Amino acid sequence: MIIHSDWHIHSEYSYDALNPLSLIAENAKEQGLRFVGITDHLNYNDGKFWRDLRASAEGVREAQKKYPFMMLGVELTPIAKPQFDYIKRTGTRLGYEAPTEGFPFAIALAASKEELTALGVRYVIGASHWRVDCPGASSLPVDRDACIGEWYRQQMYLANDERVTILGHPWYHGKGIWYENFDVIPQGMKDDLAAALKENGKYVECNAHFFQTAKATETFRHQYAKYLRGMFEMGIPVTYGSDAHNGYADDRPIVEKYLSAAGFRDGDIVGIDEKDLW
Ligand SMILES: [Zn+2]
Ligand SMILES: [Zn+2]
Repeated sequence: MIIHSDWHIHSEYSYDALNPLSLIAENAKEQGLRFVGITDHLNYNDGKFWRDLRASAEGVREAQKKYPFMMLGVELTPIAKPQFDYIKRTGTRLGYEAPTEGFPFAIALAASKEELTALGVRYVIGASHWRVDCPGASSLPVDRDACIGEWYRQQMYLANDERVTILGHPWYHGKGIWYENFDVIPQGMKDDLAAALKENGKYVECNAHFFQTAKATETFRHQYAKYLRGMFEMGIPVTYGSDAHNGYADDRPIVEKYLSAAGFRDGDIVGIDEKDLW
């Protein structure tokens, strides 16, 4: 086995996931994992997402009595700063209308470090999920260069933000753009991102999604594992995330098939160092 801990798992406290914490913990024990990190979604700074995260924090605190190998993290996603400001003012996403100028919108994350540590959150997965550069961008027909550019912009933001511990699933959501051939993303962008991660002492995630989704080709999977290996060789620590939402199966055999083909060996995929946890 190359993977011994899983730092990206969603519980029933995420709006899009179902797993009770006990199910995750019992399965993790059976799989021989040393640590599991619960990282429920905090997408927006509104009441609903904060209630979810508070419930997640309370649930993990309770579960840790029985399962001391469980850690509390959170998954944050870039959102548009004008929307963040609107929610901060009104407490809700309802009634928000995106500005008609000022593109690309500045980026925000839903919570400050102080707000997160107050809940006992010990690390952050920062991960891009959709475009936030202009109104309705995510629902526009796919424009390859605009999507690549926006992913690059968001991920550079995350790699340079002090709240982020791990860059989650880099270059996610590439169906029809880069999930066929990863070479369409300019090498310069990959290099810039790796340099920022290295410079800022971030971790990068090996996310099971890329090796399982039918949306990604075999070619892409091998390219992607090599991409992770390149960052590893630069000295950027690589963590594993199953990103499980429903059920907690052991996805490691399929992921490790690609990792070992790219040169990863036991000991190369690490956990978060104690000094990097809040
Ligand atoms: Zn995610
Ligand atoms: Zn996730």
